[in-house]
Amino acid sequence: MKNIIIIGSGPAGISASLYTVRAGIETTIISNGESALLKTGKIENYYGFSGTGPELYEAGRRNASRLGVSFIDDEVVSVSSEGKITVTTTGGKYFADAVILATGVSRTGAAIPGTRELEGRGVSFCAVCDGFFYRGRDVAVIGAGAYAKSEASELIPLASSVTVLTNGDRPSAEFDKSVRVLTEKIVKIEGTDRVTGILLEDGTHVDAAGVFIALGTAGAEALAKKIGLLTEKGSIMTNPDMSTNVPGVFAAGDNTPGMLQIAKAVCDGAAAGTSAIKYVRSIKNKEDK
Ligand SMILES: Cc1cc2nc3c(=O)[nH]c(=O)nc-3n(C[C@H](O)[C@H](O)[C@H](O)COP(=O)(O)OP(=O)(O)OC[C@H]3O[C@@H](n4cnc5c(N)ncnc54)[C@H](O)[C@@H]3O)c2cc1C
Repeated sequence: MKNIIIIGSGPAGISASLYTVRAGIETTIISNGESALLKTGKIENYYGFSGTGPELYEAGRRNASRLGVSFIDDEVVSVSSEGKITVTTTGGKYFADAVILATGVSRTGAAIPGTRELEGRGVSFCAVCDGFFYRGRDVAVIGAGAYAKSEASELIPLASSVTVLTNGDRPSAEFDKSVRVLTEKIVKIEGTDRVTGILLEDGTHVDAAGVFIALGTAGAEALAKKIGLLTEKGSIMTNPDMSTNVPGVFAAGDNTPGMLQIAKAVCDGAAAGTSAIKYVRSIKNKEDK
C-alpha cells in the first residue's frame, strides 16, 4: 500500500490529510505540536467558525483521526529523497511515497546579525548539504535542542572542532562529548567576504569557518534545503498544484508564499493533498505495468 507522510498538524497539514486518507492512501501526520493556531485567540475571519485557535486545532486533529489518519508526535530533523522519501525525526526514520511539508512559518525569534548577509558564504541551514565544505575546519552550530544535536552529529566526523552556541538558552539536548557547548548570548556572526567566527556578549570570539543555524526546531527553510527545494525569502516555492521542484514533495500553508491565514492554509492543503494522491497513483500505475 502506498503511503503519504505530512509534516505538520496545523490547518494546512490537516486539510491535506482529509483528502489523502479518504482516497484510501495510508496517511501519517508527524508534528511537534507548535501550530500558530495554538497562539491564536478568537478567530472571526474563518468560514463558519467563531471559536479560538486551540479549539479549531483540536477539532481538526480529532476529525482527521476519526477518518483514519495516524499521528506521530515527534520533531522532524531532516527529509531526504533516496528512492522512497525518508523523514528523520528525533525518534527514528519513516519512509513515504510522497511527503507534504505543512510546517508553518518559523517564528524562532530575531535573526542573529550576520545570518542573512553571510548566508552561502559560511552561514548554512543544512549540515548534510554543506558540512563537507568544512572538513578539517572549525565549525559552530547555533541552537540548543534536538535539531542542533542532529546538525552537530552530521558535522563531528568532518570538522576539526564543533562548538554549539545556545545564544542564552539552556541546552535541551545532550550533545556528544566532543562538542564544546557555550551558552553566552551571541552578538553577531563575524566576517566580511566569508564567516570568520562569532562574537559573544562576554567579548569571546569563537573561531569558525562555517556556522550552521539550527535554532528551535527545523523550520520549513531548513527542511526544504535538505531535500533540495527551491526557496525564496524563507518560503518554499511551489507550482499552482503545490508540487515542488522535487518529485513527490509538496508544500502547503504558511511555509509557501502568500497570506499567513487559515483560509489560505486550508486551500493549499486541499490542493497539496489532491496533487499528492495523483502522484502516488501515478507511481503505482507505473509499477503495476
Ligand atoms: C497570534 C496569531 C494570531 C492569528 N490569528 C489569525 C486569525 O485570526 N485568522 C487567520 O486566518 N489566521 C490567523 N493566524 C494565522 C494562522 O494561525 C496561520 O496562518 C495558520 O495556522 C497556518 O497554518 P499552517 O498549517 O500552515 O501552519 P501551522 O498552523 O503553524 O502548523 C505548523 C505545523 O507544523 C509542525 N512543525 C513545524 N516544524 C516541525 C518539525 N520540524 N517537526 C515536526 N512538526 C513540525 C507544527 O508542530 C505544526 O503542527 C494567526 C497567527 C498567529 C501567530
